[in-house]
Amino acid sequence: MTLLTTTAAQDWIAGFTPKHFINGEFVPPASGETFEAINPSTIERIADLAQGNADDIDAAVRAARAAFDAGAWSGMDPFERSRLLTRFADIAEAHADELAELESTEMGMILPTAKAFVGVGIGALRHFAGTLANISGETTSSASNVLNFTLREPLGVVGVIIPWNVPTTGFMWKAGAAIAAGNTVVIKPAEQACLSVVRLAELAVEAGIPAGVLNVVTGDGPTAGEPLVDHPLVDKITFTGSTTVGKRIMSRAAVNVKSISLELGGKSPNIIFDDANLDLAVPYALAAFTTVNGQGCVCGTRILVQRGIKDEFVRRLAEAAEQLKLGDPLDPETTLGPLSSQEQFERVVGYLEIGKEEGAIAATGGAPTGEGYFVPATVFEASSNKLRIAQEEIFGPVATVVPFDTEEEALAIANDIEYGLASAVWTSDVQRAGRVVRGLRAGTVWVNTYFSLASNMPFGGYKQSGVGRENGMNWYLDFTHEKAVYMQL
Ligand code: NAP
Ligand code: MG
Repeated sequence: MTLLTTTAAQDWIAGFTPKHFINGEFVPPASGETFEAINPSTIERIADLAQGNADDIDAAVRAARAAFDAGAWSGMDPFERSRLLTRFADIAEAHADELAELESTEMGMILPTAKAFVGVGIGALRHFAGTLANISGETTSSASNVLNFTLREPLGVVGVIIPWNVPTTGFMWKAGAAIAAGNTVVIKPAEQACLSVVRLAELAVEAGIPAGVLNVVTGDGPTAGEPLVDHPLVDKITFTGSTTVGKRIMSRAAVNVKSISLELGGKSPNIIFDDANLDLAVPYALAAFTTVNGQGCVCGTRILVQRGIKDEFVRRLAEAAEQLKLGDPLDPETTLGPLSSQEQFERVVGYLEIGKEEGAIAATGGAPTGEGYFVPATVFEASSNKLRIAQEEIFGPVATVVPFDTEEEALAIANDIEYGLASAVWTSDVQRAGRVVRGLRAGTVWVNTYFSLASNMPFGGYKQSGVGRENGMNWYLDFTHEKAVYMQL
């Protein structure tokens, strides 16, 4: 097999020592402790990483606060800040193959997908760079002897906590937006995906973004993440991850009334009506639940299919799923990589058992295979949306097909879930598409497509899928204060 590797990623890993990235420098962990980055397709060690704790977080937050107070970034001419952010995007683009390979090696998504997600992040950086000078307050109507206006100001230090599934995108969406608005940040990546995040922070300094603006502390959630959430000098936490951890962060942030934004879990319905073009709906449905090995928050893992076409749809989806080739994510032949970690593998295999115990039939897949953390694409046929495999986020290449008869029933099933992140509808009836778009309680609705993302469109969830929106035209609202100024003339 020929691996699609770049020497750049391997060379960088070879030179990497277990350190945090604080104030533009690599700094050893206060405790001296490390943990291992593991390649999930070979279960081999890739590198050692620094185990961060409250002392490391404190050092990083103080560096970020000092950089903020110094004003070199927060007080910079916005057009200059925009130029540096564009430069960062250009340098990240020049290193896109390397970043994608770091991501792929560490968390197992196939290289073309990793490259696509690095591109999604870079697109967001360009959007923020292109719109940050539009951040403005307003002058309100008042009597002639007063001047009332508002100012938009950066918040200060933003704590950024990201998951392992799309780490570079998480970095650029969250930290990119925060720094675009003039804030400084401390990033705590997930233990399973640190390398590409540290590399990006290093590239930002190379682009001319001042030291201390972007800091990265590696380590696990309880030891490094919680001190970041609790730190009194952190003005906001922006978190992407599971709903369980999101709830915990929300309650801890209440202690010092910290602003939060949360992008949480999903169990997105992909609704297929009997007038859908199945030549498109089938391959998109497959991609919808297998992209990033099914470890995507917006994955279409609940497929609601109108009863008359259900058998044909399941047969065609299962046939398409069986064409996927499991293997090393760096092998160009591979179309489905491993799950990201042992923990994730055990979780997904556990749900395969739960599905069978609940009486669901696996039309394809259903059992793990191979040496690494490999699970084949699995299509369960469920009798009801009430099953655990239909209600709970599995976060693997596992779809549950639930039949429906009418449009009303499809909407009722689609919305019968605690999540509301994404959704899709496949139909050739434009009237019906419009009604379903209005009826779905989800932050994103795709019509006759899946996975389209544009950084000038808002991204976020209804219900327990989150609080706030990323990207879009109002992205900066989350990262700025609005100050009311009254001047007596
Ligand atoms: P997770 O377990 O919730 O972890 C997310 C991040 O939070 C990691 O960096 C984790 O660190 C950290 N963390 C864990 N416990 C913490 C605590 N007590 N305090 C502070 N930080 C803590 O999620 P994951 O397994 O990495 O990612 C999968 C989840 O993310 C899925 O539920 C998925 O739907 C969601 N997700 C949502 C979106 C979205 O935009 N809505 C996008 C992508 C993923 P460690 O893991 O290192 O301990
Ligand atoms: Mg984790």
